[in-house]
Amino acid sequence: MAYIITGACIECGKCEKECPKDAIYQTCGQYAIVPRRCIECGKCAKVCPVGAPKKKEKR
Ligand code: SF4
Ligand code: SF4
Repeated sequence: MAYIITGACIECGKCEKECPKDAIYQTCGQYAIVPRRCIECGKCAKVCPVGAPKKKEKR
């Protein structure tokens, strides 16, 4: 499991700088997370001003 960035993202870029695994990249319209790189440290969710990164739950 990994974090995902939801549509609430306003592209401030803070999470990209915080991620220790360089898992976050900018794509058309918002930022996104590479699931295989994410170690679920939660730093992106902590720095995000709009709470866009969410932990993806197992189904
Ligand atoms: S939870 Fe941590 S490793 Fe995963 S994308 Fe966010 S900052 Fe990067
Ligand atoms: S910190 Fe939040 S609003 Fe800023 S780029 Fe990352 S997900 Fe988007």
